[in-house]
Amino acid sequence: MGQYDTHFEPEALLLDMDGVLYHGSRPLLFAREFLQAIEEIPHRFLTNNPISTPSQVADRLYEMGLAKVDPQQILTSGLATARWLNERLPGFRYFAVGASGLDRELSLFGTADEKNADYVVVGEGEGLDYASLTTGINLVLKGGAELVSTNPDHTVDAHVNGEHRVLPGGGALVAAFEVACGKKAITIGKPQPLLFEMALRDLGVPAARCVMVGDRPDTDILGAQQLGMGTAMVRTGRFAPMAAWPTGQAAPDWDVSNLEQLWLAWRKIWPHWPSKK
Ligand SMILES: [Mg+2]
Repeated sequence: MGQYDTHFEPEALLLDMDGVLYHGSRPLLFAREFLQAIEEIPHRFLTNNPISTPSQVADRLYEMGLAKVDPQQILTSGLATARWLNERLPGFRYFAVGASGLDRELSLFGTADEKNADYVVVGEGEGLDYASLTTGINLVLKGGAELVSTNPDHTVDAHVNGEHRVLPGGGALVAAFEVACGKKAITIGKPQPLLFEMALRDLGVPAARCVMVGDRPDTDILGAQQLGMGTAMVRTGRFAPMAAWPTGQAAPDWDVSNLEQLWLAWRKIWPHWPSKK
């Protein structure tokens, strides 16, 4: 259990996106109203998905009619990876395996170099094949490059041509590199602390004064709990309303069926919390 004290209104919020605000291209109940109401409260959007850039994610939120969001408020695991590598080794060289969005983020801070990469960065999306796996493991095993994974998700939900599909997540893709190299990758996305810590640092708010809103116990909620943040679970994503809370994991501070229920719960304990617009 974290150190978050529910008697105090949070100074800031962190929000997961898929399963909290939308599913695919379908906005979820009350998401628009929720985002309007928290306009004045400092917040950041966190996503483990490294495929899209923050600008692309912001465009999607706008197209769905949810909100006009400044891309600076969106932290993807791809951008967080790029920022983290830049802090560790300014001007780093990398070999990226994953969707083009990952390469775009990494190239903002580093230089692609498949011969002398300092880091082999594995992210979600297309890009992994026999050739890229071979290049990557040689860079690690012979070149001394470090193996980095944008996010540990085993699978991700997607809509392909209007049909629901389960796609391999970043964790599944990096597993081939880990087995071949005999070592674990450094992982950036939730539940690891880096993505959360970067958002908290941007906001200038300590973990104990911030609440994370998410739809997955094993990533959103667990990661936030480990940092002592407040946690709010909305059961609008993969974790069904009737599913039993995972054994061994502390319960979240709030566990509600959707964002409207969360809002009502918060209004009850924090009378000055902004009202719906
Ligand atoms: Mg989610």
